[in-house]
Amino acid sequence: MMKMLLKVPQKLLKTTHYMELGSYQHWPVLIPQRIRLYTYEQIPPFLKENPYITGGYRAHLPSKLCLKSIFILSNETVNIWSHLLGFLLFFSLGVNDISTVLPASGANREDYVIYATGIFCFQVCMLCSVGYHLFSCHCSEKTSRRWLSLDYAGISVGILGCYVPGIFYAFYCDTFWRQVYLMIVLSLILAVFCAQVHPHYLSNDWKRIRTAIFCCVAGVSVVPACHWVCLTGGFTTDVVKLFLPRVMIMYLIAGSAFLFYVTKIPERYFPGQLNYLGASHQLWHVLVVLMFYWWHQTAVYIMRFRHSEPCPSQSWSS
Ligand SMILES: [Zn+2]
Repeated sequence: MMKMLLKVPQKLLKTTHYMELGSYQHWPVLIPQRIRLYTYEQIPPFLKENPYITGGYRAHLPSKLCLKSIFILSNETVNIWSHLLGFLLFFSLGVNDISTVLPASGANREDYVIYATGIFCFQVCMLCSVGYHLFSCHCSEKTSRRWLSLDYAGISVGILGCYVPGIFYAFYCDTFWRQVYLMIVLSLILAVFCAQVHPHYLSNDWKRIRTAIFCCVAGVSVVPACHWVCLTGGFTTDVVKLFLPRVMIMYLIAGSAFLFYVTKIPERYFPGQLNYLGASHQLWHVLVVLMFYWWHQTAVYIMRFRHSEPCPSQSWSS
């Protein structure tokens, strides 16, 4: 009996853990047993990615505790939940649109396939990212790296999810160019997948090459975009006037997301103060969700347009 009484306060003591938040204050945070947080200096080298995030790291955890860590406040909490909520958003959008929006817009079978492909790619991208941010703290470096490559694969799938509906509706009246561009995009994404198998792909030396590859895959989209403007008859046509601003906003969101990602702004100016909230990777996550959402809405909009306005007979070969 005495033993039991002694055990209780000790257990309570263990669960309440004071950790450093930022560089200037201490907050009490409840942490499940056996999960402790580390500073940048304490974590294994393969987790050392951003020196401006000075603390709040999970490390050395087995799979079960990685999963449990979803409920604690660490420097990955916002990263995990932003894309988990993103996944739920795209899942519910998919269900809602396939059951109500598409039937109401007179969608045909092709529309359903293209639409479902896009929204499914977004969901895959979100889930891969959640998986990586949950399991990057795994005790085995190999497991952590595997999740990282899955995260990269997820980004490629997300980019594919943007391309497929974009190209399909931009070249709706021109089956030849539609097929050419879809084939090019598919081969590009496949090539990226193959590059990821390369043993050096995840190494720090290849960091710039990795970034360059993703920039190319996303940046190539300027070619079909310009081609689309030319084919439809230039900047004065109604279709271009209607959709070019939407495409430009898409580039703006993607560009700013990428800038935060590579420059590590704002935490580089406030090292240690944005460990839990407001770091560049979190901004990147939120902007990626916003970008996918924007592009998804644009796809629905252009699909409705294509069903209401028939293809012009001249200058389109089909
Ligand atoms: Zn991420």
